[in-house]
Amino acid sequence: MVKDHSEWVSKAVCKSVPNATKVFFLERGMNSNAAKKICSTCPVTEECLEYALSFNLYEDSFGIFGGMTPQERENVRRARGIVDVDVDLTSSQS
Ligand code: SF4
Repeated sequence: MVKDHSEWVSKAVCKSVPNATKVFFLERGMNSNAAKKICSTCPVTEECLEYALSFNLYEDSFGIFGGMTPQERENVRRARGIVDVDVDLTSSQS
C-alpha cells in the first residue's frame, strides 16, 4: 500500500526554496549546512525523516531529508536496529 504523503509535503519549507535541488541534493564534498538550516525551520522534519528512513540503504543515498545526510540517516537506522541486507560486492569475486 502506498502511503499518502501529500499532507505533510504540502507543509515542506523546501518547496519554496529557489534551486532546492542544488541545495538539498549535493555533489560529493559539498557542505550540507544550508539545507540543514532550512530543515531546522521546517514543521514536518519528523515526517520527512521517517519518509526517507523508509527507503533502503541503496535508495536513500542522496539528499538531505529531515535535516540529515544519507550517512546520518544510516546511523539512525542502525541505532534503531533497522538493518539493510549488506551486499559485499567484493566478496563474490575470486
Ligand atoms: S525537513 Fe527539510 S527536506 Fe524535509 S520537507 Fe522539511 S525542509 Fe524539506
